[in-house]
Amino acid sequence: MDEFEEKMNELDQMSDENKTTTMNQMKSDCICPICPTYNECAKKDDELLFCVTGKSKNCITKERGCMCPTCPFAQEYGIGVKYNFYCMRDTELEQR
Ligand code: SF4
Ligand code: SF4
Repeated sequence: MDEFEEKMNELDQMSDENKTTTMNQMKSDCICPICPTYNECAKKDDELLFCVTGKSKNCITKERGCMCPTCPFAQEYGIGVKYNFYCMRDTELEQR
């Protein structure tokens, strides 16, 4: 199991309150808002951290480049290079 899988398991086992706090910390490292694929709709709906939460619900429908390989969260957990475009293609774990 790699570091990302360990982190996802850790999240699964957290209480709802701890999970929310941890997800908010993770979201603060997410650089999707500066990506050309990100849009106003996603911003308005506060969609972030697609690598963990999965595809954009209704907002992102076209791939225009992906910044995930340069994201600090992705680099810390060794994701974002082999798989990315999480907002369109689903979570890291789903793409594996
Ligand atoms: S890897 Fe991509 S989706 Fe995940 S936190 Fe970084 S920028 Fe956001
Ligand atoms: S997941 Fe990748 S393509 Fe989608 S908005 Fe984030 S950085 Fe851009």
